[in-house]
Amino acid sequence: MSHARENQTVCVETLNVKGLARSRLAKSVHDAGWSMFVGMLRYKAARHGRTFVRVGRTFPSSQLCSGCGYRDGRKPLHVRHWTCTECGAVHDRDVNAARNILDEGRRIASG
Ligand SMILES: [Zn+2]
Repeated sequence: MSHARENQTVCVETLNVKGLARSRLAKSVHDAGWSMFVGMLRYKAARHGRTFVRVGRTFPSSQLCSGCGYRDGRKPLHVRHWTCTECGAVHDRDVNAARNILDEGRRIASG
């Protein structure tokens, strides 16, 4: 674990769980699980003196190229890998989204 200044920020995405759940009950369970997880992260970040940031649900984390910033458009959930049509970078969907969330969180944190 590095102690570099830029590694002091913890970022989470505000997920649209409604779109993933099939029933009302499933939705409330998903919501409770996610908010408990976020609450735990927030607590741990505070204990360790880290900045905690929530990135808004309108932020298109899975649409942006983390390499060049080009907005490549919507990706259905089954698309696990994609190639940026602007710079040609090949992305793992989740790794790319995580990089974008971290960048956006740092941008928010630095005001
Ligand atoms: Zn790109």
